[in-house]
Amino acid sequence: MFRTLLFFKRWIYTVLTFFFSENRCICCNSPVYGGFLCASCLKNCASEITGNCSRCSVCGKPLLSETDICSDCRQKRILFSADGCFPLFTYRLWKKNMLFMWKMQNERSLSFVFAYFAASAMRKLYPEGNYPAICGVPPRPGKLRERGWDQIKELCFYLKVLYGFRICSLLVRVNRKQQKKLDRAARIKQMEGSYVLRNSCRIPERVVLIDDVFTTGSTAESCCALLKKAGVRNVKVLTLFIVD
Ligand SMILES: [Zn+2]
Ligand SMILES: [Zn+2]
Repeated sequence: MFRTLLFFKRWIYTVLTFFFSENRCICCNSPVYGGFLCASCLKNCASEITGNCSRCSVCGKPLLSETDICSDCRQKRILFSADGCFPLFTYRLWKKNMLFMWKMQNERSLSFVFAYFAASAMRKLYPEGNYPAICGVPPRPGKLRERGWDQIKELCFYLKVLYGFRICSLLVRVNRKQQKKLDRAARIKQMEGSYVLRNSCRIPERVVLIDDVFTTGSTAESCCALLKKAGVRNVKVLTLFIVD
């Protein structure tokens, strides 16, 4: 009985959303026409990025009671090669859902939203407007075949087309294994040698490395170390989320 009711409710919902193509804001549940965030939630998120909360000087996580360096980086710091790290949001609540919709449910219109947020972060990081080249973290080989698209590449595309940032694909990933099933120590070990420089690319002086989630920092560290070794003078990391 309950299942039938649930099915009926879902069916009505599907029909209604089909005929009145109106989404609900994934944050406050108010109606939105096109997109998934209402104007005021979009604005709140952007001001969260551009606001002046104190952040960890290593991983960029917003600090609560700590000073300068967060407790995670104090205990097990692995990010050494970056000249700064700026995660846009902490990986929680509805924002976590937003990443799931984008990556797992192929909600590609969210690429616009993330590009808008990433552009706000770039303006905050480089207020003088002298922007470095942006380099996306490349996907593991085989991901494109499985999922059909690469989120970070699409994000970089919009950052170029809509906001005029310079994109440089400097890295290639050579390791096939998925990381999420590995524990921390195994991840760090596996990351060494997972990325190589793309052949015959010109190395820019300054780079912003862009990725979706900062989990342990092992991906960021191995990419930054590689870029530094290749001659990049300054590498900052920009991630959409940080796990805390
Ligand atoms: Zn809203
Ligand atoms: Zn930290």
